[in-house]
Parts: sequence; structure tokens; C-alpha cells
Amino acid sequence: MKKTTSKPTFFSKLYCHIFGHDYHVSKKVTRHVKEYKCCHCKKELTTNSNGKLTELTSTFKEINDVLEFMYHKKISRIRHKMYSTPAA
Ligand SMILES: [Zn+2]
Repeated sequence: MKKTTSKPTFFSKLYCHIFGHDYHVSKKVTRHVKEYKCCHCKKELTTNSNGKLTELTSTFKEINDVLEFMYHKKISRIRHKMYSTPAA
């Protein structure tokens, strides 16, 4: 079995309970959607479709993966279009 090295400890959870979470952007999905991770307890959040922060569940991870894929595909298509269209 694989062992996780960054398992949150009781103290890191207690720290967040007292001082609040310390979220940092862990992943940029699109321009508007990001994933955040608390550097103390490793709790993860993401931007949902309403633009609000919500807990990053496995469902949201899957949605974000699709969003990220579509976002990058769209960008590359726009870039491709820009380069392939001759300037008028
Ligand atoms: Zn935390």
C-alpha cells in the first residue's frame, strides 16, 4: 500500500481550527476556476459554477479535469486559427 507523506496531523488541524485555513492556489484550471489547498491541514477547495468556493470533492476534481482539458483545447484552437488565417 502507498503511504501518504503529507498527512495532516492533529496539530495542523487544531491550528486551522484556531487561526483559520491558509489556502494557496494549488492548480489553475481555467482563468476563473482554481483549486486551493490549505498548507496546514491539506484541505482542498475549488471554485464552483457560481464562482464561490466549495470543498474539492472527487466529483469536482473530475469536473475540473474536463474544464482544464476544454480550456486548453479552446486556447490552442484560437491560437491555431490566428496563425492559419491570412491577414487581410
Ligand atoms: Zn487548514
